[in-house]
Amino acid sequence: LQSKLPSVGTTIFSQMSQLAAEQQAINLSQGFPDFPCDPLLPELVFQASQQGLNQYAPMPGLLVLREQIAALTQRCYGRAVCPDRQITVTSGATEALFVAIQALVRSGDEVIVFDPAYDSYLPAVELAGGRTVHIPLQPPEYRVDWQAVERQISSKTRLIMVNSPHNPTGMVFSREDWLALEQLVLKHRLFCISDEVYEHMVFDSLPRHSANQLTQLAERTVVVSSFGKTFHVTGWKLGYAVAPVELTTEFRKIHQYVTFSSFTPAQQAIAELMQQKPELVTNLADFYQQKRDSFRSLLQSSGFALLPCQGTYFQLADYSALSALDDVSFCRQLTVEHKVAAIPLSVFYRQPPQQQVIRFCFAKQPLTLQQAAEKLCRVSR
Ligand code: PMP
Ligand code: GLN
Repeated sequence: LQSKLPSVGTTIFSQMSQLAAEQQAINLSQGFPDFPCDPLLPELVFQASQQGLNQYAPMPGLLVLREQIAALTQRCYGRAVCPDRQITVTSGATEALFVAIQALVRSGDEVIVFDPAYDSYLPAVELAGGRTVHIPLQPPEYRVDWQAVERQISSKTRLIMVNSPHNPTGMVFSREDWLALEQLVLKHRLFCISDEVYEHMVFDSLPRHSANQLTQLAERTVVVSSFGKTFHVTGWKLGYAVAPVELTTEFRKIHQYVTFSSFTPAQQAIAELMQQKPELVTNLADFYQQKRDSFRSLLQSSGFALLPCQGTYFQLADYSALSALDDVSFCRQLTVEHKVAAIPLSVFYRQPPQQQVIRFCFAKQPLTLQQAAEKLCRVSR
């Protein structure tokens, strides 16, 4: 069999989580919380199932959930979107990203991605027959050089993929970034996929922005988000896409043949939770900012140099004072010898720059963070 994805192996997330389990290490690698979701949520799922919501949801998602998404989009970003014609519920943000890419990218098209880039973008572009054009974000701030982006735009450029707050770096786009993006998209008639799965985790009172706020950008953008992140249920694989009517029509043509619809009881439960406890979303940034601050202060006496973190639940750390190993080898050594698993940054690049940086997930209980930090503080050269 000739592979359609010859350069793709098992994701780093599966690899590191498996190694962490084998080594009985604290798993700060793959991004997921180790604490429970709001206790009401499992009850609501149970109730939805008992009430008989056990068959296929409508292809675009349960209307009650799409209405809650529309209300949230209005509340957070002041954009009115039509639940019927502009919102589609998907099986995680991963499905939304995949479907949006299949809908937009044609054979021979070029797609701009920023490295380090979330690992699901590239295979999806390649399966659509497109080619990714990689623009590196420079440490330690990992900000976008928009002039460099414009230099990479060609007649074949079809799509630009952005992700703010950014996994793995924790960088958050400023208003100027969004305006620069909008200008490029309009000038070169590009499409945009805006991966905003960490939208509610922006720290230090930084303004929260979204492609949904910029009217002209939004007209050419699929905005993707994830309930897994927002409600601490990554295993439920529930996300959504917000897009203009015409794009939504094309999106749904593909979604209906990829999954058709997603787990019905969870859709009902999340809709009810959003209605009953809107503060869960509002308080999320403070909740994770506390974790970030506590993890950073616990690591203060370690040999790791911590990079800035403006959002997401990831903290980058430079370990060059501790080891000369490359980041993949260092992460293995850290897991096997020090019993803490992390993610090497180089795997998210086409051409990794000279840097010795790894990613820790701090979506963990205080005790987990404390125990991990104790181990990390013992790492020495
Ligand atoms: N985009 C980014 C940037 C992510 O970090 C993740 C998950 N970690 C996803 C998309 C996928 O989200 P989901 O789990 O809802 O499929
Ligand atoms: N997005 C999660 C992370 O960045 C992992 C998701 C996955 O395992 N596919 O860690």
